[in-house]
Amino acid sequence: MTVAGEKIVVEDRKSTDTALVIGGGVSGMQAALDIADQGYSVVLVERTPSIGGVMAMLDKTFPTLDCSACILTPKLSEVARHPNIELMTYSEVKSITGTAGNFRVSVLRKARKVLEDKCSGCGDCVPHCPIEVRNEFDQGLGYRKAVYIGFPQNTPLVYTIDSENCIKCGMCVKSCEREAIDLDLEDEEIEISVGAIVVATGYELYNVANYRRFGYGRFKNVINALEFERLINAAGPTAGNLMRLSDGKIPKSIGFIQCVGARDATKDVPYCSRVCCMYGIKNAVMAKELQHENVKKVTIYSIDIRAFGKGFEEFYNMAKDRFGIKFIRGRVGEVSENSRNKNIIVRAEDTTTGKFLEQEHELVVLCPGILPPKGLRDTANQLGLQLDSDGFIHVEQPASNPVDTAVSGVYICGCVEGPKDIPDSVAAGSAAAMRASITLWREGEH
Ligand SMILES: Cc1cc2nc3c(=O)[nH]c(=O)nc-3n(C[C@H](O)[C@H](O)[C@H](O)COP(=O)(O)OP(=O)(O)OC[C@H]3O[C@@H](n4cnc5c(N)ncnc54)[C@H](O)[C@@H]3O)c2cc1C
Repeated sequence: MTVAGEKIVVEDRKSTDTALVIGGGVSGMQAALDIADQGYSVVLVERTPSIGGVMAMLDKTFPTLDCSACILTPKLSEVARHPNIELMTYSEVKSITGTAGNFRVSVLRKARKVLEDKCSGCGDCVPHCPIEVRNEFDQGLGYRKAVYIGFPQNTPLVYTIDSENCIKCGMCVKSCEREAIDLDLEDEEIEISVGAIVVATGYELYNVANYRRFGYGRFKNVINALEFERLINAAGPTAGNLMRLSDGKIPKSIGFIQCVGARDATKDVPYCSRVCCMYGIKNAVMAKELQHENVKKVTIYSIDIRAFGKGFEEFYNMAKDRFGIKFIRGRVGEVSENSRNKNIIVRAEDTTTGKFLEQEHELVVLCPGILPPKGLRDTANQLGLQLDSDGFIHVEQPASNPVDTAVSGVYICGCVEGPKDIPDSVAAGSAAAMRASITLWREGEH
């Protein structure tokens, strides 16, 4: 079997010794670690050049305000160093056949044009690259070269050449003393046999530009919550200095708009995304915490606040009582721009008083809901899985078997099943690992 421009390599593994985890966010990493710790081999396939998922982009985590990188970085290293885990980053599953105990999986390894076993991650090639493009890890607010790592803890610590933007000038090749760069490397397809599969492909953020009336993409001082996370992150594009995009000034007044692409049947997203109330409050608190001298007024506009988890209600109360965050209950009608100072005018109804409000903010942050990840329908088709009415993977018996799918030997964890916070995603990762290990053990020779 050959494919034009691609090399096919068939790897021989005993299928019942090995599990496949698809998706290297925090839930997939946890599943991989827990399967590997039981002595089984794991192949972890991640679409982007690094594992870590969305958690790697976050600044702090609610409700404890722990530093996200401080929790995630040790896990990234543990995965990278684990003798039973093989990382296939910048890779995608092309096809899956077979049944529990003996799945045949074909993985496309995209050519990163850098030899993983030679690259030391020194970055000597970077200053020589003449091409600069927006860094997707920083949500396009910062820049990277065509030879790049998205963030300092990129795992594996190996550079990637972005073939779309590389002009093949060869400067990086000449600068690399270890001869780790080969611009002629091509994609390769690898076939592996595995006994069990965990799907952990996470989620996409709702595209807030779909709400034209909120001005995202039209007004510079309307941003989304993940952009805000990068703006306040010390390793982010502004080195953690909160500023608005029109003039680089610290915003004195910030408005957060909740449920943008959540609980809204008119946009085909009738469900609650479960994490937005808490990450909205977290970011409101962080704005005050980081810039308490300058940020005078922070307002959260929401339908209501859903603080259902452990410590969440206390966190909500702290935001109101200690940080003076103002909560307005009611959907925002529209926002407009004050052309003189580029401030954002928010018009909303306060449903507790029945009054219409008009407030001016120097920065507005839209808090988007969570959608199923791109390509989930293809993954589901490859595996014979069903999607639920919201487009996430369907679970037959959520009360008794919350990480089992309708296909024996295939398990799920994290947001691919529906919106979840980090602790719930990690717990589901461990649960899916246990279920996958039981399948490997049962299907193996005992
Ligand atoms: C702005 C914001 C702030 C948040 N703050 C918090 C917080 O403070 N505390 C908290 O608990 N939660 C928070 N969350 C929620 C948190 O991001 C999720 O709980 C967590 O990221 C879920 O992890 P996951 O592994 O399920 O998914 P993801 O993080 O989405 O990881 C999925 C991984 O799978 C990869 N992938 C996707 N498709 C494929 C494919 N076909 N093949 C291979 N790989 C694939 C992706 O590239 C990604 O690396 C926040 C969310 C947002 C949007």
